[in-house]
Amino acid sequence: MEEDITIDLCVLQSHLNGMLDRVEENSLTLKRFQAFEMILLNLNSLPTMIDHLLDDTKTFFDLDVVSFCLIDEKREIAGFLNEDGYDYQSKTGLLLLEDKELLKNTFGSSSRPLLEEYKESSCAGFFPKNERKPASVAILPLCRRKKYFGSLNLGSYTPNRFISNMATDFVEHMLSVVSICLENNLNYEMMRRTSHIDTLTGVNNRRFLEQRIGEEIDRSQRNDEPLSCLFLDIDHFKLINDTYGHQAGDHVLALIAGMIKKQLRSNDVLARYGGEEFVALLSHIDEAKAGDIAERIRKSIKELLVEFENEDIEATISIGLAAYQPSHSATLSTAEIAAQLIQSSDAALYIAKKNGRDKVENGAPVLDYDEKVTYLA
Ligand code: GH3
Ligand code: MG
Ligand code: MG
Repeated sequence: MEEDITIDLCVLQSHLNGMLDRVEENSLTLKRFQAFEMILLNLNSLPTMIDHLLDDTKTFFDLDVVSFCLIDEKREIAGFLNEDGYDYQSKTGLLLLEDKELLKNTFGSSSRPLLEEYKESSCAGFFPKNERKPASVAILPLCRRKKYFGSLNLGSYTPNRFISNMATDFVEHMLSVVSICLENNLNYEMMRRTSHIDTLTGVNNRRFLEQRIGEEIDRSQRNDEPLSCLFLDIDHFKLINDTYGHQAGDHVLALIAGMIKKQLRSNDVLARYGGEEFVALLSHIDEAKAGDIAERIRKSIKELLVEFENEDIEATISIGLAAYQPSHSATLSTAEIAAQLIQSSDAALYIAKKNGRDKVENGAPVLDYDEKVTYLA
């Protein structure tokens, strides 16, 4: 009898020890998830979020392979990352998908994670760049408001690391956090860009120019490189509106903006300054080179034949140019130099108009010190 009780007690003790071990294990897992989520919640840009998901998921959860799919039907995300100088093409784990097919075929209308052994037919699309494929996978769909953003894909070389009847509470909680953070970052990136874009022409607006001109001057001083500014104004634009109508005018405006942009490098700033006026900032371009670029733009607009409702519309543009070469004894502020760049190129534009339009004219060089000459006694 006594012996039986002792045996029962031993069995109970061993059960209890097993349960305590599991509680301990769960508590550690919870802590890992919480730490991972805390980092995620503090990230405030898309590139840092992508890096965290690709690199830290692997180390935090001891995984062999991690990939991250993002649906990018309009190639906007690729554009955002490119503009931020983030080399997304070199990231093995990042997949920008041009349609929803892969996710639709995998999940249908469900948003539950998929845990299973790796099958070439259903899993290869999530790990296309990995030479060694995982043995078991957890494909976690990211969605908000019934809209798929993409998926976070975890892989292990251990066959039973992920099996279909595994509890997924922690993972589903993490997925909600990743989805909310992703939605926030994407919305932020979208807003950041649209608030700087002129809706009619698609080029930057004046607010963006005012922000960037100071940065460009600072960079030019730091690198001791010239900076040129073009002030461009469509000739007799009022006449185009009066002759063909305002809608035709809008169409001409948008096409001319696109043509100017095409002649510039992708990192040059082009902004709509006002009605039919644009300003371009050309970094590390001196006066002579800026003259060539302005001339190329002038010619391209003259040759541009705009068709609108069976009418062929011709337009020309006048351009004023000003160049800044940093001295090594600057006394003027960045704002004063910026004002000079705009004033000098605007004054040159006025001369181009006076000289008959469809012309490029150079303005006075932009100085960063007071011009007063001081004589030594
Ligand atoms: P100039 O060669 O001296 O520059 O002559 P201009 O007619 O181009 O200049 P003016 O300043 O007299 O007229 C500019 C016109 O641009 C008047 C305005 O109605 C038109 N405009 C400004 N913004 C827009 C726009 O967004 N769409 C259209 N269609 N027209 C615009
Ligand atoms: Mg004009
Ligand atoms: Mg004007």
